[in-house]
Amino acid sequence: MPIKKILIANRGEIAVRIINTCRQLNILTVAVFSDADRHAKHVMMADEQCHLGSTDLADSYLNVDKIVQAAIDHQVDAVHPGYGFLSERPALAKALDKANIIFIGAPVEALELMGSKSAAKQTMLLADVPCVPGYQEDDQTPDVLADAARAIGFPVLIKAVAGGGGKGMKIVHQATDFASQLKSAQREAQNAFGDDQVILEKYITRPKHIEVQVFADQHGHVVHLFERDCSTQRRYQKVIEEAPAAGLSDATRTDMLNAAVKATQAINYVGAGTVEFIMDGDDSFYFMEMNTRLQVEHRVTEMITGVDLVAWQIAVAQGDPLPKKQTEIHDRGHAIQVRLYAEDPDNNYLPSTGLLEQVKLMQLEHSLVDSGVRASDSVTIHYDPMIAKLVVWAKNRNKCISKMLQVLDQSAVFGVKTNLAFLSRLLSTREFRKHQIYTNTLDNDELILAQEITPEVVAIYVHHLLHLNQTGEVWKQASGWHVQGTEPLLLELRFKGETLAYQISWEEGQYLINGTDHYWPQKEDICHIHRHQVQVIHQHLRYEFSLPDHEAKAVTSSANAILAPMPGKIIEVKVNPGDEVVTGQSLVVMEAMKMELELKAERDAVIKDIAYSENDQVRADDILVELE
Ligand code: ADP
Repeated sequence: MPIKKILIANRGEIAVRIINTCRQLNILTVAVFSDADRHAKHVMMADEQCHLGSTDLADSYLNVDKIVQAAIDHQVDAVHPGYGFLSERPALAKALDKANIIFIGAPVEALELMGSKSAAKQTMLLADVPCVPGYQEDDQTPDVLADAARAIGFPVLIKAVAGGGGKGMKIVHQATDFASQLKSAQREAQNAFGDDQVILEKYITRPKHIEVQVFADQHGHVVHLFERDCSTQRRYQKVIEEAPAAGLSDATRTDMLNAAVKATQAINYVGAGTVEFIMDGDDSFYFMEMNTRLQVEHRVTEMITGVDLVAWQIAVAQGDPLPKKQTEIHDRGHAIQVRLYAEDPDNNYLPSTGLLEQVKLMQLEHSLVDSGVRASDSVTIHYDPMIAKLVVWAKNRNKCISKMLQVLDQSAVFGVKTNLAFLSRLLSTREFRKHQIYTNTLDNDELILAQEITPEVVAIYVHHLLHLNQTGEVWKQASGWHVQGTEPLLLELRFKGETLAYQISWEEGQYLINGTDHYWPQKEDICHIHRHQVQVIHQHLRYEFSLPDHEAKAVTSSANAILAPMPGKIIEVKVNPGDEVVTGQSLVVMEAMKMELELKAERDAVIKDIAYSENDQVRADDILVELE
């Protein structure tokens, strides 16, 4: 029976991504949501909506009963769990089965087996799939574990049997630390998963994380769709993923792809799965775990194979054979995905919550943006702080890196801190270009420090500032400003809690910064401005600073225009063209984000033009009032 209607038991970008494929396949969709997500993008996009409950996860996205009831009420044929949440929980699969609804995911037995790191490893060892040397027995007596650790040899990694997302993982460098680290891992595991059992593994010191996308149907066919390198991680969490893995020899690659297929066959798997391997410096690789669901990074596989993995999931779930045989699946070119997070790389990647005042995500040819949020949505503490996945494809890896840098350069988010600068910086490093990033590289490296402001950056900003306020002939207008006898402009920038001051002056139609010639911006130099926040892109690096006044004062004071500091509505226009106004006089009142902003004259002037009237909607940076 073909699936005609699907409930998506998830939120955010993955719910949106699944809805998009359903639309192409003419399948109706039902979105579920919590209180916090009432107006979320995925809810707006679906054909039908179902409110689950409060923002509490247990009352909404993790509530099996409510989700199954929603599926029954909306008469869906199937439920897609996305990733995270209930995607790997046998309870949802079982409950749906009882209700005669298809679960678009792995069989219950596979979920149970792979949900336990010890059972998974034991199964793989039996199937002759190489595993990291370690201890994965049931006996959890501290002395037995300590002996096992010594036998493995330090450093040793302690992992929670029920683990995921890097929780409950501890590296132990020497025998004397083992007991205390074990306790701490057990505590973390108990808290996170309600299960304190652990396994031990040899800690691989120069590890690469390489995983294979596999797919199996209900008729015993298993294929792989090549590998992904996900070694660029912070805190055991992936931030950049690519396909194929660079620098992998043909022989190793073939062995790994075969091992993944063997692992998949060994557990009679059905659906989309990922077999994760850890690779050592000498190219030996070991099974780490199998993820029994769609991965966040599945897009890079789609980019190089041209396969829509969600469409395949739906096909397999309704009993169709795999759409392609192994010999018909080819990889072409290279794909990279970055995860754009609302977080602060300078502060231990602490999630950054707040209102997304501006979200500009660039999409070029052969690139895509998966995002579950829009400007004016909020990043909250309740859910994952990922803002978007940016994915690009190109003929080869170097071109792919360049293209990703272009996408990042032209993207900007304001309102929360993001890892955009960190991502560009990472992609620009020699290590990344030479594919020498290991899963622990970012723990030690100083790749992440905020860029210091340089004279070039100031010049790009000043150039942009002048440009911003003009329409058409920038320099003629700009020098006109000089001719009127305006004093040199004092520009103050705030960076890392300090104020940097620059004097901008005019001489023979050119401007000088601190009395000297300045860098002349190139085409690739970009300036993103939102209210008092500035992000300058120079040589693909992102420099973030702010202006001292929170009311976009510096933007307006510099030139002959008053700009809307953010999108909003004009409430009152207090002046008319021809009026003489004095410094500090209120010109326009606008409403933005439920606040009233009074926009004032920053100098004595005559009103030349007023572009809007009361009740007009304006966009950020629209010119509201022109002065002369
Ligand atoms: P989780 O299920 O919590 O995500 P994984 O077993 O998938 O845990 O491991 C997460 C990450 O930890 C891997 O991507 C890798 O970076 C690192 N890791 C896992 N096992 C080892 C190991 N034996 N040696 C070194 N690093 C490891």
